Amino acid sequence: MGDPCYVIPDDEWSDFCHIMRDDGEDFEYKDETCRVIKTGGDGDFGGLSVDAGIIGVIPVSLCDPQSLKDTVPNHARLINNFATLEADYGIIIIDGEAINGLQCECSYCNGRGEWYYEDQMSYCDSCGCPVGSSCVEYGENGEYCSSWCKEEREPEDED
Ligand SMILES: [Zn+2]
Ligand SMILES: [Zn+2]
Repeated sequence: MGDPCYVIPDDEWSDFCHIMRDDGEDFEYKDETCRVIKTGGDGDFGGLSVDAGIIGVIPVSLCDPQSLKDTVPNHARLINNFATLEADYGIIIIDGEAINGLQCECSYCNGRGEWYYEDQMSYCDSCGCPVGSSCVEYGENGEYCSSWCKEEREPEDED
């Protein structure tokens, strides 16, 4: 799993690009099934280096052995399942887990929260759980995941 440009042999690269889909759906290349998703940019995506704007799950049999050795484990990962790939506005989700984002864990989202970039994420000043920017409950002295947590830290005067 990683950017296929590191492991597909150079002389096959243009063929590969011609055949590949970059929407996370399966495609066949040299009788092997591959998946590739567009990242929308290059750089580091949760420890995977991206240079061709894509992340893919490529069977080892298609990889150039030396390139594979050079690439894993610093820029790509060896995995033993055929992971699913999805993209959500630049967040890359592999097997249901974002590699470059965090999920809102507020009680409203309850485990089904949206994915956010790390810098769009706040942490509840009371319980510490990650809260997406659109779910934050703002208080006088902090940001909270819920009115419950806000109340805990900033009890309203009752008089
Ligand atoms: Zn939420
Ligand atoms: Zn909280």
